[in-house]
Amino acid sequence: MTRDQEIKLLGALESHITFTADPPRTDGCANDHRLTRAFLTREGLDVETELAGLVERGGRCCDCEVVFNAKLGAKSGFALPQDPD
Ligand SMILES: [Zn+2]
Repeated sequence: MTRDQEIKLLGALESHITFTADPPRTDGCANDHRLTRAFLTREGLDVETELAGLVERGGRCCDCEVVFNAKLGAKSGFALPQDPD
């Protein structure tokens, strides 16, 4: 999955799932990865491979964990800048 696709996935998930802080509540997550799977299928990606990667990055149980934990679009955000030499 490219960074652009990750950003699109994040947008797709956030358009279906709403989060409220007080009281802490998540609406629209069915406690599975159905929204993530639907997106990966739509994009023509290898669903099982991509989902396994997202799970490994913290999106363990469900779509909202993908939003919270997988750091979509920031895959290389923690990498040290490459020396141009
Ligand atoms: Zn969830």
